[in-house]
Amino acid sequence: MFARWGGLCCYCDRPAEHLDHVTPISKGGGDVLSNVVPACADCNLSKAALTLAEWAATF
Ligand SMILES: [Zn+2]
Repeated sequence: MFARWGGLCCYCDRPAEHLDHVTPISKGGGDVLSNVVPACADCNLSKAALTLAEWAATF
């Protein structure tokens, strides 16, 4: 899974240390590969339980 992204955060291309749920479990996202991407700690903690659209709106 990490190899698919070259071991990099899918949001900012720094080395990924976390796995992020694209659609948070708490918002109805599944715990499945298609909903999981590698993310660095900064991005994962910043995004937290937001959806991509909600997170993008914070920039
Ligand atoms: Zn990142």
